[in-house]
Amino acid sequence: MSNRCGWALIGASNIAREWMIDAIRAQPGHEIVSVLSADDRRGAAFAAAHGIEHAGTALDALLADPEVQAVYISTTNELHAAQAIAAARAGKHVVCEKPLAMNLADARAVVAACHDAKVVLATNHHLRNAATHQAMRRLIREGAIGRPLYARVFHAVQLPASLQGWRVQSAGAGGGVILDIAVHDADTLRFVLDAEPLEAVALARSEAGAPVEAGAMAVLRFDNGVIAQLHDAFDVAHAGTGIEILGSAGSVFGRNVMTQRATGSVWLRDAAGEREIALVHHDLYVAGMRAFAAALRGEGAPAATGEDGVRSLAAALAVADSVRSGRRVAVTLT
Ligand code: NDP
Repeated sequence: MSNRCGWALIGASNIAREWMIDAIRAQPGHEIVSVLSADDRRGAAFAAAHGIEHAGTALDALLADPEVQAVYISTTNELHAAQAIAAARAGKHVVCEKPLAMNLADARAVVAACHDAKVVLATNHHLRNAATHQAMRRLIREGAIGRPLYARVFHAVQLPASLQGWRVQSAGAGGGVILDIAVHDADTLRFVLDAEPLEAVALARSEAGAPVEAGAMAVLRFDNGVIAQLHDAFDVAHAGTGIEILGSAGSVFGRNVMTQRATGSVWLRDAAGEREIALVHHDLYVAGMRAFAAALRGEGAPAATGEDGVRSLAAALAVADSVRSGRRVAVTLT
């Protein structure tokens, strides 16, 4: 069976430029055929800069191209669902950026469209591809910390100026720290704990008049009994990131691990003392695309499926709902 896969990039984005073009091209036989932009000059410049043959502004035309078998969607968040559904209906496999959609009905519709069209759907939750998070999951599964009881996620960062457009200015485009970062935390905790969130309580802050929240603190209760504290922010300098899982017999600490880069360390502390866990780092996005390419060949599932996208979005939406309402909110999937 041929490994060839032609890709259309839907969105001339920063994440495509920085990580995903290389990750797609790292898969043998995978090539990028075209890029979609709402602006023909930006699209043409993006295509020229990255050696992509075609640029276009019409989604239907890109999707009609028989050279395209898969799409990578990295537009702003409010566009993901409609573009993913259109791609599925055109028979294209889909890697969609997180959040899969702005609401659960749309996210479910993406999953249903891909299911009906028998195409593979992945959500680009990259953190579960990290050697660090994979080691933490393995340690917990092996019982290294006894029963996991509590978790803490430290994901308060300083958003670089280059990323401060729609993320800090536009609720309509899905800006705000909750849809941007808390959704990743939820996915990472789901992966590391192998558990599902049941309910959320949360508070958020921003400067007066800001259209979206700049920071949030939330607590999620998981179905294995763990309660997890999240701290996400766009406006914090030099805090560092991390994740800690505290258990009945020990604790595991991921330091500098909530990141796009193949870096960070994992430490286990128990009755025997504290030691660093040996890791072999690898590119998170290349690993995600490798799993996707294998899924196209019928070998296994994407690292984060469409269902993962729905469930992690559901947790983030419960956090947002709790901020708005001041109540604890059940994580529901409908
Ligand atoms: P960008 O702001 O770089 O791109 C989003 C859209 O903005 C693009 O589709 C593009 O529209 C438009 N755009 C880009 N540059 C310009 C410009 N100079 N002037 C006007 N418009 C412009 O977004 P990101 O790459 O940061 O994020 C894209 C998506 O990827 C989001 O859904 C985000 O949540 C997700 N993401 C995921 C990450 C992960 O690790 N999984 C990391 C970062 C982002 P057009 O296509 O029409 O040209």
